Amino acid sequence: MLPLSRRTQPFRESVIREMTRIGAEVGGVDLAQGLPNFDPPSELVEALERLVHDAGAHQYSFTWGSPAFRADVAAKYARVNRMAIDPETEVTVTCGVSEALAATVLALTEPGDEVLLVEPFYENYVPACILGGAVPRFAALDPATGALDPERLAAAVTPRTRLLVLNTPGNPSGRVFTRAELGAVAELCERFGLVVVVDEIYERIFFEGHEHVSLASLPGMETRTVTLSGLGKTYAVTGWRVGWAVAAPPLTALVRKVHDYLTVCAPTLFQEAGRVALGLPDAYYLEMRAKYATRRALLLPALRRAGFTFREPEGAYYVMVDAAPLGWTDDLALVDFLARSVGVVAVPGSSFYAGKGGATRARLNFAKKEETLEEAARRLGSADLRAPGRLLSSPAR
Ligand code: PMP
Repeated sequence: MLPLSRRTQPFRESVIREMTRIGAEVGGVDLAQGLPNFDPPSELVEALERLVHDAGAHQYSFTWGSPAFRADVAAKYARVNRMAIDPETEVTVTCGVSEALAATVLALTEPGDEVLLVEPFYENYVPACILGGAVPRFAALDPATGALDPERLAAAVTPRTRLLVLNTPGNPSGRVFTRAELGAVAELCERFGLVVVVDEIYERIFFEGHEHVSLASLPGMETRTVTLSGLGKTYAVTGWRVGWAVAAPPLTALVRKVHDYLTVCAPTLFQEAGRVALGLPDAYYLEMRAKYATRRALLLPALRRAGFTFREPEGAYYVMVDAAPLGWTDDLALVDFLARSVGVVAVPGSSFYAGKGGATRARLNFAKKEETLEEAARRLGSADLRAPGRLLSSPAR
């Protein structure tokens, strides 16, 4: 045996990538990995064509981000998130939210510190903690209502807890936390002296009746919140790898140090083109939300008819279905069946749960062309999705 790092032992390779591979093998409709299969706005492609001739765009930017891009990010926070931030001392541009998260955990925890995650969680949060030597702990959303319950969070806090990680709008929960829920979190963080890392990458994607609130815009939270977001989801450019971390100067100083040594800087060309993205008019966001509402309306009824139960997503672009009513008890068998026998590729629920909560579940993503979702709905509609060998007392549909 080669003497390989112990850090990489506690987690396996991402199942999401594995599902994408199986999907390609069986020719399934891929609703697994969280990436759009439609084009980004044409203005962004045109900006890239223009900027590619700018010699400066091919070299490193300042480590914590091009000054003009950081200024535009700060202007967006003032306009959209009701957060007054200084681009000189409070913004770090990173290689996507993934790097922002890893850099934040590395910058703000000691080995052995605990990081509190909310279950179901985005799967990258766990390895980000483990790679940094931190210990992930879990508090579940209320299983009956999906609510963020401050008592459950409080019960999971120990003297070693340093960070709380939240995600709103949530992947895979679909929750958009209300101002009241976030207010309760703010009180909790003050009570226990916690810093909150809030992943707001889906901040522009929410459905009627819901509204995204930035935790750091709540009174007192600006000093103890690290707000993460980026270009990937809002502008359908997940391959550009541009994200950022916004935090008060003492926290930003630490995040910047780690970021510099991890990646030097985010891609310069895509930061420059990102200025065009951040400058798109309000009409862009209205239209984008309307398109996501249409996509959601194409997939959800088909899942319901097929016999799954689920909470309707309030934001982001995922739905977590429960196949317990169809007799399934093993999520890996479920997604294998969905891929090979139905031709729809999903992610097993256990990727998002530390406990047993994922065992009957799967996550599907609807950031797809309408024809892709129609095909998925057609396949779901023409298959019998009951678990094999399972005698149900009443027909599933
Ligand atoms: N956070 C969440 C909640 C996500 O769903 C994703 C992508 N699926 C990321 C972060 C990763 O973002 P990026 O591509 O900007 O690294």
